[in-house]
Amino acid sequence: MVETVKYDLLVKGGLVIDPSQGIHDKLDVAVFKGRIVNLGVNLNPKESKEVLEVDGQIVTPGVIDLHTHVFYLLGHKREGLKVDSTSLAKGVTTVLDAGSFYPEDVEAFRYYIVERSRTRVYALLSMKPDGNPREYGETVKANRDFLVGIKYHHGGLGTMDMLILAREAADWGECMLMCEPYGPKLKTILEYMYKGDVLTHSFHPPPRRGLLDEDGKVLPEVWEAIKRGVYLDQGHGRSGFSFEVAEKCLKQGLPPFTISTDLHKLSVNGPVYDMPTTMSKWMALGMSLEEVIKRSTLHPAIVLKKGGYLGTLKIGACADISCFKMLEGEFVFEDSAGEKRTGRYKLEPMHVVRSGEVVF
Ligand SMILES: [Zn+2]
Repeated sequence: MVETVKYDLLVKGGLVIDPSQGIHDKLDVAVFKGRIVNLGVNLNPKESKEVLEVDGQIVTPGVIDLHTHVFYLLGHKREGLKVDSTSLAKGVTTVLDAGSFYPEDVEAFRYYIVERSRTRVYALLSMKPDGNPREYGETVKANRDFLVGIKYHHGGLGTMDMLILAREAADWGECMLMCEPYGPKLKTILEYMYKGDVLTHSFHPPPRRGLLDEDGKVLPEVWEAIKRGVYLDQGHGRSGFSFEVAEKCLKQGLPPFTISTDLHKLSVNGPVYDMPTTMSKWMALGMSLEEVIKRSTLHPAIVLKKGGYLGTLKIGACADISCFKMLEGEFVFEDSAGEKRTGRYKLEPMHVVRSGEVVF
């Protein structure tokens, strides 16, 4: 009997964890024309042109890293990385460049990075001290295919004036504002943030405690911001993440909405390394694998307003798929303050499917 070929690719034999559908099961994932077309038990490999055997691996929606710097050789401080080797090869199918350039470099970013990378790349426009909010907003509107918001500010140089400009720019562009907790007091920064905006470097180490008061309690203004729809992003980076602060927040019921690296030249060789290592750190702090995956797939897709298309393996969604091995042993992780924690698990990237194509 001759089977008809129904699929381009079958990702076969893995443990599918897709928090967008509450799935945690051994299932095969079928792909056709760059989209997910079927999820099922023991799908027939003869019905697929290509089969990717992933026995013993964890299969998730393509991982999204909401804080990177990937304007290689051209971005601010020349800190950008080659996105395909530092993100895609590590299981990340989509990144957000969180502020590496000004409006005058939008075309260069599009030409050299967005159009020439296998990784899906979105970006924020970095606010400058004398930036024109209207020009920023118009630039976002004219490049909505990859520009999704405004960044206040890359590199910890923010001032009150720049915060106001960034807010106005986001209003002109009808887009998100991502803020670092630097410059004015956190309370003031949060007052300028609306529903859908993102605070990054949320778990900054002391003495800049950020979310916590002097007794280690989450500040009331943080709870208020979350209630009105502000998202907390990790943005690990060279100096932006403390195990101690994260533990205190987790204990009070405040996890990050999104897990992200703030990967750039000065963090990629430690303490951050890559997204799977960053995800594994949250497991070392006691977060479940499902929660870690949710905050690295479904949640960043929601922030990017791409829910249903990215960050999910629902039928009809874009066929971005990440496959990991869960290593068991004794793994020592380090935060931005040099503090260490030991974890039992570490995610190891194995395969990456981008728009239905096996790229690693
Ligand atoms: Zn950054």
